[in-house]
Amino acid sequence: MSSSAVKGSTAAPTLSVVIPAFNEEHNLPRLIAELSPVLGDLDLSWEILIVDDGSGDGTWDLIRALHQQEPRIRGLRFSRNFGHQHALIAGLADARGDAVISMDADMQHPPALVPELVAAWRQGKKVVCTLRKDSDEIPSGKRLSSRLYYRLFSALSGVEIKSGMADYRLLDRQVLDDLLQFRESGLFLRGLVQWIGYPRAEVPFSCGTRVEGKSRYTLRKMVQLAWNGVSSFSVVPLRIVTLLGLMASLAAFMGFAYAIISHWMDGNTAPGWTSSVAIVSILFGILFVCLAVLSEYLGRILDEVRSRPRFIVSERADVPLQPLVSQA
Ligand code: UDP
Ligand code: MG
Repeated sequence: MSSSAVKGSTAAPTLSVVIPAFNEEHNLPRLIAELSPVLGDLDLSWEILIVDDGSGDGTWDLIRALHQQEPRIRGLRFSRNFGHQHALIAGLADARGDAVISMDADMQHPPALVPELVAAWRQGKKVVCTLRKDSDEIPSGKRLSSRLYYRLFSALSGVEIKSGMADYRLLDRQVLDDLLQFRESGLFLRGLVQWIGYPRAEVPFSCGTRVEGKSRYTLRKMVQLAWNGVSSFSVVPLRIVTLLGLMASLAAFMGFAYAIISHWMDGNTAPGWTSSVAIVSILFGILFVCLAVLSEYLGRILDEVRSRPRFIVSERADVPLQPLVSQA
C-alpha cells in the first residue's frame, strides 16, 4: 500500500516534482512556466515542491507568490544553506505523490523529459534514472572528473554509478519509502538508488546550459559530495591505512633487528646509535600495528553505525496464516 494512502489524504497527488533551489529566483519562473503545461498534459494529479536551500535572493518570496497563484506548487524553506543533497532529501520526505521526480532548478534537466519518465513508471519501472549524454554544455574538466570519480566509486564500493547519472530521476513510492528509512546522516542518494535494486529504466538526455548564473556547486561542495559518497559506501580507504600500517610496522621491526644485529656483529657503531634506532623502530612498529587494528575496528563500527538494512524485500507471495483453532 502506498504511504499516501496510509496518510489517508484523498488530495494526495499521483506525481510530485521535487526541486532543490539555491538562489534560483531567475531560473525558477522559467522552469515552472515550462514544467506546468507538461504536467498538465499528463492526465494525472500533480504537485511541485520547491525546497529553498537557504537562498539569499528572492527565491522564497517567489515560491510564496507561485503558491498563491497555484496551490499545487508548494515550498519548504531551510533556515540556512544545508546543501543540495539535504534539500533533495527534505523534498523527497515531504512529497506526497505515488511517484516522485527530482530535478534541478536551472533548466539543465529538461521538463520535456517528464512524460518519458512517467511512461516508464506506468510500465512498472520503480526507478527511472536519466543519463546525461556528454555534451559540450558541461565543461570538459567537470566531465572528466565526474567520469573518473564514478569509476573510482564503482571500483571501491562495487555499486555501479554511470557518469552522467545525476539527480534527475523518478522514484516509485515504494522505493522512496524504503530509502527514507535509511537513518544515516550523509545519505548518498546517487549511490543508494543504485544499491537498492528494483526494476529500473534509463532515459538518456542532452543537458542544456544553465539558464542564469553560475553553478551553485562550489568546488568545496563537490569535494564534500565526492568524499561523502566514497566514505559512506566503502571502507577501502581504511583498509589502505591497515595495509600501510602493517607494511610500516614490518619495516620498523626490520630496522630494530638490523640495529641490534649490526651492534653485535661489528661493535664499532656510533655510541647511542643502536639504542636510539632500536627504541624508535620498536615504538613505530607497535604504533603502526595499533593503527592497523584500530582502522579495522573503525570500519566495523562505521558499518554498524550506519545500520543500513541488510536487504530490501520488494514483494511477497505468501499464504495468509490460518487460525490454529477452527472458529466452528
Ligand atoms: N542547489 C541547492 N543547494 C546548494 C547548491 C545547489 O539546493 O547548496 C540546487 C541548485 O539550485 C540546483 C541544483 O541544486 O537546482 C543543482 O545545482 P547546480 O545547477 O548549481 O549544480 P550543477 O548543475 O553545476 O552540478
Ligand atoms: Mg546545474
